[in-house]
Amino acid sequence: MSFSFDIKKSDSGSLARIGTINTPHGPIQTPAFIPVGTKATVKSVLPESMKDLGSQALLSNAYHLYLQPGSDILDEAGGLAKFMNWPGPTFTDSGGFQVLSLGVGFKKVLAMDAQTTRHDDVIAGNKDRLAHVDDEGVTFKSHLDGSMHRFTPEVSMQVQHQIGADIMFAFDECTTLHNTRPYQELAMDRTYAWAIRCLDEHKRLTEERVGKPYQALFGVIQGAQYEDLRKKAATDLGSLESNGQSFDGFGIGGALDKGQLGTIVSWVNEILPEDKPRHLLGIGAPEDLFVGVENGCDTFDCVLASRIARTSAVYTMEGRFNLSNSRFKRDFTPIDSECDCYTCTHYTRAYMHHVFRGKEIISATLATIHNERFIVRLVDQMRQALLDGNFADMKADFLGRYLHRSGQARD
Ligand SMILES: [Zn+2]
Repeated sequence: MSFSFDIKKSDSGSLARIGTINTPHGPIQTPAFIPVGTKATVKSVLPESMKDLGSQALLSNAYHLYLQPGSDILDEAGGLAKFMNWPGPTFTDSGGFQVLSLGVGFKKVLAMDAQTTRHDDVIAGNKDRLAHVDDEGVTFKSHLDGSMHRFTPEVSMQVQHQIGADIMFAFDECTTLHNTRPYQELAMDRTYAWAIRCLDEHKRLTEERVGKPYQALFGVIQGAQYEDLRKKAATDLGSLESNGQSFDGFGIGGALDKGQLGTIVSWVNEILPEDKPRHLLGIGAPEDLFVGVENGCDTFDCVLASRIARTSAVYTMEGRFNLSNSRFKRDFTPIDSECDCYTCTHYTRAYMHHVFRGKEIISATLATIHNERFIVRLVDQMRQALLDGNFADMKADFLGRYLHRSGQARD
């Protein structure tokens, strides 16, 4: 088995740690931000550029690749990394979130206000819904062509083994903050039962697929905003062993109230086994990454950096702003004068403004390179600050500038 996690240093003042995740496709120095290439491509950017900007690994999505081109095709191609010409480690998420969110059609739920009315309509009792959850799995309608499909824990494992990423996630039921407490309990029990089935199927497939590189399986901690549920999930999944197989790491997922992110993550990470890596699913805004790192998360993924780049929104030390704004028409400075990315060392805000206004394809490429570099580098800088023992100062310096200017410059 060529998967391991070595902790180099644990921070004395927080739950943060520095380590190395070793995978068959190479190491990941943590904490690390993992850019998302949902359909085996980071939209508009070459894999070589992702490598150049410091990306250590990429995360793709099992649901999307299962529907198109089909996970069997990735298997025949020699796995996700080879198929997409990416030389490093890869992750796939289980499809649980997409099956439920795209299938049901509810909005992205990872950061939302918990104080709104809660109800289970998004999942139950609506005949227009596109996903039906039962104890065995989820039946859903493809968002591409309306065809019907069924994911069970076993199917998710089979699909993810065919895709061949170094790190996979167990199939879970992803709820929203709108669900009632009894529903959250039901979904958590189901996720636990599915975790056992995932471990069993993962073990069976690992033994069956002789000669393939070992794929690590991470369990997913649910429980929404409830302390007792989150702690129970961390306790149960953290110690779970089925037929000698336990999880290689953990994902913290599901409904996360942004205002409570640090609290929720610390509940979980104080309980999870210390010697296994922890991935915070779908979190990638600069201020949230600090919270994740100081509360003990090792890796992060988020589509935000590339998604907002395509709409001309960029992260900078001066906060987040939109390059299509006319104030950049004659601004011949880089997007961020402190950024070392390809875009900032070769192009100006005026050029970026021009290509966004002209809807030139290169606008997406250049802005994505910058945003991904900004986030990857920010987490790299957190790692360095932890090594140097000045994380708190680095955080205060960054947020002092970033949030202050964001408030002023946002448009
Ligand atoms: Zn840049």
